[in-house]
Amino acid sequence: MPATTPVVYPIPVGADNYVWLMETAAGDAVIFDPGDFAPVADVLQRSRLNLTHILITHHHHDHTDGVTALARHFGARVIGHARDAGRLPPLDLAVGDGDAIPLGPLNCEVMATPGHTLGHVVYRIGDALFTGDTLFSLGCGRLFEGTAEMMWDSLRRLRALSGIGRVFPAHEYTLANLGFVLKLEPEREDLASLKWWVHEQIDQGKPTLPTTMERELQFNPFLRADDPDFVQRIGMTGNTAVAVFAHVRTMRNHH
Ligand code: ZN
Ligand code: FE
Repeated sequence: MPATTPVVYPIPVGADNYVWLMETAAGDAVIFDPGDFAPVADVLQRSRLNLTHILITHHHHDHTDGVTALARHFGARVIGHARDAGRLPPLDLAVGDGDAIPLGPLNCEVMATPGHTLGHVVYRIGDALFTGDTLFSLGCGRLFEGTAEMMWDSLRRLRALSGIGRVFPAHEYTLANLGFVLKLEPEREDLASLKWWVHEQIDQGKPTLPTTMERELQFNPFLRADDPDFVQRIGMTGNTAVAVFAHVRTMRNHH
């Protein structure tokens, strides 16, 4: 499959969610995790885009509350993980790990990423990865249903993907996550320009997303639980990557 760079727009919903809208073909669009109806319907109506599909990463309400109303209103097909079919809005297409879904001319790959919830999935389309509440910029989702081992495994699988440029998480948590990273690794000088940029975006009311896989590999502590330099800096040398990951996740919970 050739690398594609379809256009993606954020639709802010609620306190800090983004519903990502991707143009898949001339006049067609798909959206991810619509947690509300009105703001999303408004954008779709004004843009005159034809909504073909709604993709759900996991069952939490801030990702699903707008799904059924939007699907009815625009005649879109709803896609979600078969495993969680009973907890998701009614699905037109129940998918699983490794499935490929044609979205117009594009191919969308499904990856199961248990951890935040047991049925969480992420979607890859060309260079774009829609990570829901699995991978955030400088962070990861809380372990509501899964174990640290599951989440670390999920993040390692995402980390190993090649050809990912843009990463689209479902929440604007970058500033709070940055505060945690600065506390974990205060001596890192290469955080300065990232800090400046994040503050500038927030001050101007602009999204800090998408992030890039490159940036996350460099700075996201939850992708670096097996990085000896990082592990040493936080005083965890000699521990397994899962233990380091679990420790950092617990620290973040109390930050
Ligand atoms: Zn969630
Ligand atoms: Fe969420």
